[in-house]
Amino acid sequence: MFVQIEDLVYQYRNASEPAIKNFSLQLNEGEIIAILGESGSGKSTILRLLAGLETPKSGMIIINGQKMVDDHTFIPPEKRGIGMVFQDYALFPHMTVENNIKFGLRHMTSKQKQKRIEEMLELVNLLDYKKRYPYELSGGQQQRVALARALAPAPSLLLFDEPFSNLDASLQMKIRDELKQILKQTKSTSIFVTHDQVDAAALADRTVLIEKGVVKNISKVEPPKSY
Ligand code: ADP
Ligand code: ADP
Repeated sequence: MFVQIEDLVYQYRNASEPAIKNFSLQLNEGEIIAILGESGSGKSTILRLLAGLETPKSGMIIINGQKMVDDHTFIPPEKRGIGMVFQDYALFPHMTVENNIKFGLRHMTSKQKQKRIEEMLELVNLLDYKKRYPYELSGGQQQRVALARALAPAPSLLLFDEPFSNLDASLQMKIRDELKQILKQTKSTSIFVTHDQVDAAALADRTVLIEKGVVKNISKVEPPKSY
């Protein structure tokens, strides 16, 4: 198993009951999972636990053979090798596209960084936009830069929190399909959270339905029929 999440329990300090109750999930390498649930069901909390922004009360997380969390272990967020694409604070507004992507690249020479930036911009089809600032891009283009930035350090796991919710409906479909293609091409193991069943089915290999912090159902998405 590439990602192993076992029995996570989490309770917010001022809450009367846990937001996450015995959450378990396994992912194969390259698999795309969608976590589906209503507002308040615990989706964002699970992403924060995976990212290391919250510490669970109990449970275990292993990613690519490395223990991130258990009763005796807590690897901090910057050492988890996780890439994140969130809906709101997607890009740094005062940095060009290329500097946004460069920001997450460490331990590389300038030349290697430049090469990686070019590769990523080619992947998301934005090579001509290197010198632009986020406000000079459309919503869909900004979302693609955010993806390029998340993918640049070659993370072992990618997390997406409602990545399309700020885009209009027609663009959502286009970006969703592009994104799936890129994730499959780069064999990126990914977890999405969404409240949209259509998004979940279009993107994921499997969907996990969560209600009040409890996994209700896990189902395999059937590939679309071809005619
Ligand atoms: P979702 O992402 O599915 O909308 P969340 O993970 O944000 O759900 O929230 C799960 C539950 O935890 C909800 O009942 C929510 O009210 C509660 N919650 C979220 N953030 C906090 C917080 N900072 N303090 C207390 N309770 C919170
Ligand atoms: P995408 O489908 O990639 O999101 P759009 O169809 O929304 O692109 O935009 C088409 C073109 O309009 C793009 O080439 C983009 O450069 C330009 N554009 C969109 N919004 C802006 C903006 N706020 N400032 C400058 N150019 C923009």
